[in-house]
Amino acid sequence: MIELEEAVQRILAVMPASARERVPLAAAHERVLSERLLAALDLPSFDNSAMDGYAVCATDVAAATLESPVGLRLRGRVAAGETFAAELSTGDGVRLFTGSPLPRGADAVVMQEDTRTDPTNAERVLICDSVKPLENVRLRGTDVKSGAVVAEAGEALTVGRIGLLAATGVMEVSVGKQPRVGLLATGSELREAGQTLSPGQIYESNRLTLAELVRRAGGLPKVHPLVPDKPDATRQALEIALAESDVVVTSGGVSVGEMDFVKAGFEALGGELQFWKVAIRPGKPFVFGRWREKFLFGLPGNPVSAFVTFLLLVRPALRRWQGANDVALPVQSGVLVEPLVNAGERRHFMRVRVDAAGKVFSAGAQASHALFSLAAASGLMDVPPRTTITVGKTVAVIRWT
Ligand code: AMP
Ligand code: MG
Repeated sequence: MIELEEAVQRILAVMPASARERVPLAAAHERVLSERLLAALDLPSFDNSAMDGYAVCATDVAAATLESPVGLRLRGRVAAGETFAAELSTGDGVRLFTGSPLPRGADAVVMQEDTRTDPTNAERVLICDSVKPLENVRLRGTDVKSGAVVAEAGEALTVGRIGLLAATGVMEVSVGKQPRVGLLATGSELREAGQTLSPGQIYESNRLTLAELVRRAGGLPKVHPLVPDKPDATRQALEIALAESDVVVTSGGVSVGEMDFVKAGFEALGGELQFWKVAIRPGKPFVFGRWREKFLFGLPGNPVSAFVTFLLLVRPALRRWQGANDVALPVQSGVLVEPLVNAGERRHFMRVRVDAAGKVFSAGAQASHALFSLAAASGLMDVPPRTTITVGKTVAVIRWT
């Protein structure tokens, strides 16, 4: 039995260098960038107005107030997307809108709310407040300088970063390929949704939750048929899944019972088991194996165990497979409002619920088959062995939502 950190480290150590592909920026959300990107232009790429208003020379309107406005010659109007050919002279103003290029000669913008039109002269605008030089002006290059790093290899493309890249004119990016993940559920008691249950049978649920977690990790899940607890059937199912996928994730059949055939089936195909059993609860019988450049993650069958071991041990691998530098789940801190007790000898990843105010509750029953509490949970708390965490403690919650 090995510690969780060692298990993760050993898994990450054997993940291959990510294969790449080019995808349109529009399809790149949450993909892992495999190249460093430099800004091809300044942002903003020209000095422009931050407001609807009037371009002025700040010194012209230094004395302007509501009671004694300063009149300026209205030299024209520049809508966003247009430019102003001439240069402003002292005493001139130009009508601008948010994003309009600042005319040459102007050094500030008075917002429309601080101006009045001259009722007697349409060619004049009355400025009712002073502005400082550069007020309401967005200077070229103040957001991003041309040549600056706008995204780094190994970073996930967040929505915000996609916006930044789009603004710098990027159309396509190089990203890590998505691993194809074959999902197998083993267990002769398992039935598909819609089938009638005979005594002793249950509906299979792991492939559905794991498929969604695979997708969220950036992988491409493929759900395979149910696998009965028979050596040949298990080996054959593994063979098909390995042939069609980069990573195979199984659930069930990795414990110590004589009906557990995943490890033996994998070895019979020439797969090498890297380790078996991790010192965590739930999920101790987790197994990791390698077959050439493909990988087996054998998760325990209990639904909560499969869920938790996926998050702690498979998700990091899928992220690294795509080239991600940071493979950790986000952690949120909160304040515990009921005690959490781990009387056992292994670290317990307890399911908790965090409310909008940051209060942390137990999600309910902490048994590894308890789906009702999993459904209520939004995170995990890593509770050390023989430890009680008391009410009022600030705690770290590992989020998956
Ligand atoms: P195992 O790891 O195969 O010993 O299974 C442990 C427990 O999880 C048993 O109660 C199984 O019936 C249950 N189980 C295994 N696989 C699944 C699955 N895919 N969906 C729901 N329950 C499962
Ligand atoms: Mg089983």
